[in-house]
Amino acid sequence: MSAWRLARYSVDMAESVLPPLPDWLTVPSNLNALGAMWPRGAVRDDQGVLCVGGCSVVELAQRFGTPLLVLDETDFRARAKAWVEAFSGWDVYYAGKAFLSKAVARWVDEEGLGLDVCSGNELATALAVGFPASRIGFHGNNKSLDELRQAVEAGVGRIVVDCDEEISRLSAIASDLGKHVRVLVRVTTGVDAHTHEYIATAGADQKFGFSLTNERALAALVACHETPGLALAGVHSHIGSQIFDTAGFSVAAQRTMDLLAAFRDATGVELEELDLGGGAGIAYTPADTPVAVEDFHAGLAAIVEENRTRLGLGALRLSIEPGRAIVGPAGVAVYTVGVVKPQVLEDGSTRVYVSVDGGMSDNIRPALYHADYTGVLANRHSDAVPMAVRVVGKHCESGDILVHDGYLPSDTRPGDVLALAACGAYTRSMASNYNMATKVPVVAVGEGTPRAIMRRETLDDLLRLDLG
Ligand SMILES: *Cc1c(COP(=O)(O)O)cnc(C)c1O
Repeated sequence: MSAWRLARYSVDMAESVLPPLPDWLTVPSNLNALGAMWPRGAVRDDQGVLCVGGCSVVELAQRFGTPLLVLDETDFRARAKAWVEAFSGWDVYYAGKAFLSKAVARWVDEEGLGLDVCSGNELATALAVGFPASRIGFHGNNKSLDELRQAVEAGVGRIVVDCDEEISRLSAIASDLGKHVRVLVRVTTGVDAHTHEYIATAGADQKFGFSLTNERALAALVACHETPGLALAGVHSHIGSQIFDTAGFSVAAQRTMDLLAAFRDATGVELEELDLGGGAGIAYTPADTPVAVEDFHAGLAAIVEENRTRLGLGALRLSIEPGRAIVGPAGVAVYTVGVVKPQVLEDGSTRVYVSVDGGMSDNIRPALYHADYTGVLANRHSDAVPMAVRVVGKHCESGDILVHDGYLPSDTRPGDVLALAACGAYTRSMASNYNMATKVPVVAVGEGTPRAIMRRETLDDLLRLDLG
């Protein structure tokens, strides 16, 4: 784009009518400022270049190419440590589905967390770096016989039973291998954390676990208790994700603990373990207000204690499974701008589409759940006026959006580097090869020199799968 064209374009933008924008989005007073959603220690250098974990994202982009996922190891470890410290006395399991690689499994091990996996391949990734199987939990609604056998053979610390078939399958595997399998039973409490409707029937109409709203959950506990080869430890509940208060957990804890009491009354046996799942929310935009981990712990501990007293239950082994809250804020996605296109809408307003070199193949969340993100111009300072933008990818879908609504400087142009905050969770782990895109590399920064912990997929990798 020529300087003349750019200058005119900027003037046009200043005079153009804003497109419809969400209420939460306010015009930033300083487009160069970094908000709370960036990794700890993220700064701009003298030239205005964004630095994460002490590394210039421009240098990282030059060395590793874009699109790129930068993962701040220091930030990841600090958050993992904060969870372990805040939840002292509890077992903290990192939910590997948010993002797992060999390096991440090592970090999780070294910081003393357990690991939650939900497939045989996630389990194999952890075992490949010697993650202690006793600190691994395995959940999922349709674990195959092979996966269950793999988990029992490895000696995982607990398997979260999700259906009747698993009870008999695990019993057969246990008898075959001469082992006892420690199990929790996944229950659905009727708490729908996404809609904040804590009504008793919501949540029954989905695929996970045994419902508490009928007698299924109690029956499953009794079945596990009576089935040879299974050592029933307790109850597991996971109410959802990106949750900003403890109200949903409060209802879930009350209902799961009612179940523990009902099981005690039915069998005379007190179960020892209660897992309240994951779901702690993080900031993707300035409108998000996550609960501090210490407050999250205080809230949950109080709820559990209140119900324990109410029901006369003994001491419980408690666990929690944060995924997003540990890896989400540590990740920064880095893209190169390719096209800046103002589109005049039917109402006469102008929405500027900023197209980058990635998109729904490296981050499906905006398309999948209308997730919001915050992006900044990362390669320079700009004093240009803010323009309302939609950041989109390069895929053949109009829903291929990365930032539905945001502000960037009005001089944002092709070749600029764009960084998106809070991209560590459910991005690379949900990546696809749509349009034959190659999956992005993950570069760890913050401790030692920057290093790729996952390399970029290549066209050769893709063509090797194609048998012609
Ligand atoms: C997804 C999931 C988690 C992690 O959820 P976050 O929102 O990433 O904290 C924990 N436990 C279970 C069972 C899950 O399915």
